[in-house]
Amino acid sequence: MTAIHWTKARQQIQELIQQPRFGLFSDFDGTLAPIAPTPEAVLIAPAARQHLSDLAAELPLVALISGRRAGSLQAKVGLEGLVYIGNHGLEQWLDGKVVGLPQAAAFRAALEQAHAEIQAVLPPGAVAEDKGLTLSIHYRQTPDPRQFVLTRGVQIHDIAQQHGLVLFTGKMVLEVRPPVEVDKGTAFRDLVLEHKLSSALFLGDDISDLAALQAAAALRSGGIAAYGVGVQSEDAPPEVAAHADYQADGVADVEQLLAFLLAARQASV
Ligand SMILES: [Mg+2]
Repeated sequence: MTAIHWTKARQQIQELIQQPRFGLFSDFDGTLAPIAPTPEAVLIAPAARQHLSDLAAELPLVALISGRRAGSLQAKVGLEGLVYIGNHGLEQWLDGKVVGLPQAAAFRAALEQAHAEIQAVLPPGAVAEDKGLTLSIHYRQTPDPRQFVLTRGVQIHDIAQQHGLVLFTGKMVLEVRPPVEVDKGTAFRDLVLEHKLSSALFLGDDISDLAALQAAAALRSGGIAAYGVGVQSEDAPPEVAAHADYQADGVADVEQLLAFLLAARQASV
């Protein structure tokens, strides 16, 4: 099943955001900000940033849930009044400090050892980014990214496993994480419950966002009107459209959706 474009569901989305306890949740890279050659080069579009700021003033909760470090996420957006969750739910930026889950931090030494071993097998163009609680191997700039996964993927998987860590995949990235049952889905669900939301929307574009898209469905069976928007792109994994309720066509279209959400919210009060 492929999700319908959000403009074909304006009425339903309007009903969600007009509930007083509505929360907006979003991924960052590839959803609010266009993908760039390196994670450092990624910038949020000014319009998207302004819409988020305006929505944060109107809503009980606006939360960003990213695979980035929480501090990097906060620095890229730089708005007050938002909740910033980093490292796929393993840490949160709170009042200028990053608070991580102790059960994830316990794997720091294992992660450092795995990092050193992975570093030794990386070809030119691949970069291992130490994110504190996790490790990202970016291979967008290797000469043949597909070949990189085929030849190095298994090797990196084995190194991760030897250190009791788990390997995940994303768009042009491999991620080594501690074996902690936390992901964007649990982070999303926990925030919805903690903030006693009655409706919510999650926006995401990559494999790691699937957990949140699935959490939306689980929340619905518990009586909370949570829905997911899958953001399409050239290299979007087909699973995203398959598990999303609605679809947006890239970062520029997400800006349109945010503008619509803001107008609908303002019309309701
Ligand atoms: Mg993304």
